[in-house]
Amino acid sequence: MSTAKPYGFTTTILHNDRQKEIEHGSPHKPIHSSVTYGYKNARELADVFQGKQAGYRYGRQGNPTVAALEDKISKMEDGIASLCFATGMAAIGAVFQGLLRQGDHIISSRFLFGNTNSVWQTCAEQGIQLSLVDATNVAEVAAAITPATRMVFVETIANPRTQIADLKRIGELCQQHGILYVVDNTMTSPYLFRPKAVGAGLVVNSLTKSIAGHGNVLGGALTDTGLFDWASYPHIASNFRKLASAQQGMAQLRAKALRDFGASISPDAAHQIAVGAETLALRMQRESENALELARLLQADPRVAVVHYPGLESHPQHALASELFRAYGALLSFELKPEIDCFDYLNHLKLAINATHLGDTRTLVIPVAHTIFFEMGPERRAEMGIVDSLIRVSVGIEDTEDLLQDFANALNQFD
Ligand SMILES: *Cc1c(COP(=O)(O)O)cnc(C)c1O
Repeated sequence: MSTAKPYGFTTTILHNDRQKEIEHGSPHKPIHSSVTYGYKNARELADVFQGKQAGYRYGRQGNPTVAALEDKISKMEDGIASLCFATGMAAIGAVFQGLLRQGDHIISSRFLFGNTNSVWQTCAEQGIQLSLVDATNVAEVAAAITPATRMVFVETIANPRTQIADLKRIGELCQQHGILYVVDNTMTSPYLFRPKAVGAGLVVNSLTKSIAGHGNVLGGALTDTGLFDWASYPHIASNFRKLASAQQGMAQLRAKALRDFGASISPDAAHQIAVGAETLALRMQRESENALELARLLQADPRVAVVHYPGLESHPQHALASELFRAYGALLSFELKPEIDCFDYLNHLKLAINATHLGDTRTLVIPVAHTIFFEMGPERRAEMGIVDSLIRVSVGIEDTEDLLQDFANALNQFD
């Protein structure tokens, strides 16, 4: 007897809800808006509360529509369980609230999403030691490890300069030391890369970005890959110690972070994200193709000083990206020659929208030093390699010719 080959990425997502009990044959899990759940008798209700019987208690810590999305994210990431939140930042906040305590030490990439950088500053103010390192170099991570190190946190492709963490070797290092390895996979999405492949224990995704994909809904998720031994983690509360090691991390995160801090995703948002996720692979392919063409066009233009895109051979981690990622993603950034003002250039774009946000179907552009990285100040920007003229592009799914023409036309204003 031959075993059937597992379905591919998109087929799995499209048909996942139907693998479970479905109401009226609906191919989508319906939006369950109930906040509370009634049981036949008080004994059953008590059993649900005591974890002896599966079931929902209250909308803040679980909902059937949200559970259907969590299951899809686990499939996408090849994880054992996922937990959804109102936003990506709520998911990152949950790591802090649920797993870190005063006196702990964490190592994080220095090239970070701006708000994550701000969360780490808050951690530091609350008694958690922080080492910010250049995570493209595993030696810097290794040198920062102390006996109190609980966690290494990196992003896959850093925004906006597209540095790629030394994902595989950091994974090996964390495994040797028994340290929890947390990878923010937002920029690659589980279609381009699964952090489990490099040993991550927890994966973060902002669902707002590529997974939902249309710039119309907020959400975040944590996925447990099953690789981390939670029984060895010092801060698991005694009531979760009774569970199997594999369940302890998520049980604690669901209670201590999601339930207690309450950044729950709404069932409507979960439904919208699940619909968006059906086309994740198609959009990531198209965005990656468009981004590579645009990066090549910009790189060949004499008015452009430098282009940062992992798909270019000139990118310092091009080989690593080619080895680990299915394509190079939608994020690129570039610097114009000093004589061209980046605001003047952006004002000549007709299609690309001046807006923050990433992983949208529409192409978005932003002068990063003056906007999303303004608050952190010039010194920290210099450390992150963010010059004043840097323009970030989140490449959309427009027809390639239209997109290239828009950027080329704007450049042609500066002959
Ligand atoms: C956007 C983003 C987040 C935060 O996600 P929100 O859904 O906007 O809260 C976290 N990490 C990365 C890498 C992001 O790009």
